Amino acid sequence: RWASQAKVKYPKAKYGGRSTVTLLPGGGIGPELTGYVKEIFLYAGVPVVFEEVKIDPSSDSNEDLENAITSIRRNGVGLKGNIETRSLSTSVMSRNVALRNELDLFVNVFHCYSFTGIQSRHQNVDIYVIRQNTEGEYAMAEHESVPGVVECLKIITREKAERLAHYAFNFARKNGRKKVTTVHKANIMKLSDGLFLEVSREVAKHYPEIEHNDMIIDNCCMQLVSKPSQFDVMLTTNLYGTIVSNVICGLIGGAGLLSGGNYGDHYAVFEPGTRNTGTAIAGKNVANPISMLNGAVDLLNHLELDHHARILRDAIMKTVNEDQIHTPDVGGSATSTDVVENVLKHLAQNVKPGLVF
Ligand code: ATP
Repeated sequence: RWASQAKVKYPKAKYGGRSTVTLLPGGGIGPELTGYVKEIFLYAGVPVVFEEVKIDPSSDSNEDLENAITSIRRNGVGLKGNIETRSLSTSVMSRNVALRNELDLFVNVFHCYSFTGIQSRHQNVDIYVIRQNTEGEYAMAEHESVPGVVECLKIITREKAERLAHYAFNFARKNGRKKVTTVHKANIMKLSDGLFLEVSREVAKHYPEIEHNDMIIDNCCMQLVSKPSQFDVMLTTNLYGTIVSNVICGLIGGAGLLSGGNYGDHYAVFEPGTRNTGTAIAGKNVANPISMLNGAVDLLNHLELDHHARILRDAIMKTVNEDQIHTPDVGGSATSTDVVENVLKHLAQNVKPGLVF
């Protein structure tokens, strides 16, 4: 209470100069991809200790999830794969959504950009998607009012819409971005998306140097595939955010490359940007590890481990763009471990194996 009154941030868990980070491997390809991050951090002497929390996808109990949330509250930061929820019980909500709601990770920031070494429909894509993360279409308020009639509520509140819009415009201001585009369907959902749009227009007035426009989600998808260069920062509701993120990933080479960050006032959780489980390709040594490795770079930047963030980022970019060691999803024939070994090869030039900084 005193810390929050004094606007002091709680110190994050850091013992003996090492940061403790919650690791949620999740399902599908999550355990193998987070396993590569552990190997790379060990090899590069990254001063991070992972506290791993496994969540049983078939369990009807929320105990594992509560452990994960407690761990992130303690450590302040996490890295995760997509968590499966196989239980059909209505009392068990999606663990991914519950985690974001409980920790008030109100915004998802997804940087979508092209890689020079990957052939794709468009080059020079460079868009930030700033997505609503704790309400909107993912409010998880669905019910069957009478047999055969199901209602699903989409919740937009002025308070959360304002917080998100300020985040997007501030983000644009701090990062030298020029334009924010609000993505909506206010012509049909006049009250809910109408409020989201109205709030973004009001907030835009506080940032006169940032251009603001808006676009209806369906036209936005068409514009993205034909002329992505017109977008700079996109401000979206929850469902539209995942749609535009997936469209952009399709344009730049698929789901296996980019990472996303979930942020609130107190915690941050990083993950592969399109949040896929990848069940069909799990355990085959074909999943592209780059999206999770980029999540690890975001994590290192967040922990202000600048040196480690830079050397890992360089090793990733050299592997993808110069050496072109590509898994099948981006047109190559390399295995996941070929990619990781190549990243380690580049890291070897910057670290002495076994040396812990
Ligand atoms: P499910 O939970 O059934 O696995 P999902 O919605 O999480 O479904 P996926 O089917 O896992 O979606 O992923 C969508 C597509 O993206 C699939 O073709 C998957 O193989 C591909 N994909 C996702 N992540 C990766 C990755 N890291 N490397 C290669 N392909 C990937």
